[in-house]
Amino acid sequence: DKFKEGLEKTRDSFVGKMNELVYKYRKVDEDFFEELEELLISSDVGVTTVMELIDQLKDEVRLRNIKDTKEIQPVISEKLAELLEKEGDDIGLNLQEDGMTVILVVGVNGVGKTTSIGKLAYHLKQQGKSVMLAAGDTFRAGAIEQLEVWGDRVGVDVIKQQEGSDPAAVMYDALKAAKSRSIDVLLCDTAGRLQNKVNLMNELEKVKRVIEREVPGAPHEVLLVLDATTGQNAMSQAKTFGQSTDVSGIVLTKLDGTAKGGIVLAIRHELDIPVKFVGLGEKMDDLQEFDAEQFVYGLFR
Ligand code: GDP
Repeated sequence: DKFKEGLEKTRDSFVGKMNELVYKYRKVDEDFFEELEELLISSDVGVTTVMELIDQLKDEVRLRNIKDTKEIQPVISEKLAELLEKEGDDIGLNLQEDGMTVILVVGVNGVGKTTSIGKLAYHLKQQGKSVMLAAGDTFRAGAIEQLEVWGDRVGVDVIKQQEGSDPAAVMYDALKAAKSRSIDVLLCDTAGRLQNKVNLMNELEKVKRVIEREVPGAPHEVLLVLDATTGQNAMSQAKTFGQSTDVSGIVLTKLDGTAKGGIVLAIRHELDIPVKFVGLGEKMDDLQEFDAEQFVYGLFR
């Protein structure tokens, strides 16, 4: 039901317009496909993905001998779900059975990184895990305090140093503290200033090296946070981060704030990184583990 609520804007826009198409054309023909293609592109699905989807739909229409546009909606749902969940996808978080799991969270300022870390901490606590936060964004004014607010709200400790201090040193402290308290999951915030890309990527590399040195096999996840309302910007951010860090999953925030939820498809399909969580609101429990079927179901009903 969270998906249903959170996808209201996309549903009203995309599915609303699709229903209009179904009634306008009645017959599945070239013109219908052309308008469907435009609709998908305007929903941020991404040109490459749209082309593939349309080709697949045409094949299915031929195979199943579909003539009436009313019959095509279930086929669209099916194909969308297939595009969203590739075989072999690691859907859930890669949590360690024994020992600590370290999760590095990266992303540009303003995308919802801090909020997502808070929500993730809540999500993990709900699953009975002990959680600690590392305030690794020592650059943005207020970032540390904001993380502490989330720490208080969720009831987890935040390891921090002063603003402006070395993020790698914060990470070292946090790793030590988490180890000595036998914490299950350490969530690490990082800086997100993209104005100086080279410095930022070097800093992330350095933080990662500290983690790798202190905990063999870590980080177990590098989650990239992207803002669904920014469309193609989100795509280019993913490419930038993807080039310098091994991103293992995406947290797509603010899906509730966009009518262009098709961005999920573009991200999944064109970047080949699984979407692990989606943000569907500002509250603690407004983060959902991504589920392709539930997503498509939430979209169409
Ligand atoms: P950061 O700079 O990346 O750490 O971004 P913040 O965590 O401060 O988030 C920026 C704004 O986006 C805040 O006002 C959040 O409440 C809001 N936000 C974050 N995630 C979501 C979401 O999933 N849905 C909505 N509607 N707002 C969100």
